[in-house]
Amino acid sequence: MAGVGSGGEPKPATAARIYDYHLGGIHNFPADREAGDAVARLFPLVPALARTNRAFLRRAVRHLAESGVRQFLDIGSGIPTAGNVHEVARSVVPDARAVYVDIDPVAVSESLEILAGDERAGAVRADVRDPQAILGHPQVRRLLDFGEPVGLLLIAVLHFVPDDEAAQAAVRQLREALVPGSYVVVSHAASDGVPDDDSGHLAVAKDVYQRSTATPFHLRSRPQVERFFEGLELVEPGVVWLPEWRPTPDDPADFVQDPPRSAGLAGVARVR
Ligand code: SAM
Repeated sequence: MAGVGSGGEPKPATAARIYDYHLGGIHNFPADREAGDAVARLFPLVPALARTNRAFLRRAVRHLAESGVRQFLDIGSGIPTAGNVHEVARSVVPDARAVYVDIDPVAVSESLEILAGDERAGAVRADVRDPQAILGHPQVRRLLDFGEPVGLLLIAVLHFVPDDEAAQAAVRQLREALVPGSYVVVSHAASDGVPDDDSGHLAVAKDVYQRSTATPFHLRSRPQVERFFEGLELVEPGVVWLPEWRPTPDDPADFVQDPPRSAGLAGVARVR
């Protein structure tokens, strides 16, 4: 039965399923909805944040595909939801390849179900803190050619790695595997620029994740987020609030009037 483990015990909430719930998805269980509602009660902007982040993902993937990237490594991919990376990429590059990586086994099994029969896309369970396991994974090796440019997506995942040195080291190791012409895409919950009332709520939302999931989240300052791009060539407009990164008329209207309220910084950079 959905929502309980094989022994009848309730399934604990996970960040992937809470996010799916906030996006209006169907891949979530009672504990996820409860935690999701708790977060949304304390921080009502959360569903809008999820939409805004997802819209950034679509714009960034489209930009990479238009810049010639034909293969994508999406780490912290979550539960596949409308506008998956491979779908967006293939609207520009029909034979684009993608590997989805997530720490949550449910996110991975849902991804595998959606990708069944797709020879050019796959999903693996791995931890962003263990880049060598990701880079050496047979599925990753089978689907991606690291001799060609890769789009590395770290979208709304690095804030689940609280240790700054561990997060920086993971990104560094992943980047080292990429040839020139590859891209790194990051979005991240930001600790600065958020109006006072929201930052208070963000702190409470953080507490809910801490108590109810295995992946508590950690906010970073702009300089900390910018550090993920050190040595890379940032694409215009640089590291900006989510709605400010190359907006299009199709974007959700949520934070257009007040981008810092999106509480998320985003950037795209090219490997030289
Ligand atoms: N990237 C997608 C997006 O932006 O729409 C999903 C983001 S969702 C907010 C964060 C995802 O990161 C969740 O699916 C969660 O399971 C995953 N995650 C958290 N910690 C992780 C880790 N250490 N390694 C890999 N994935 C992780």
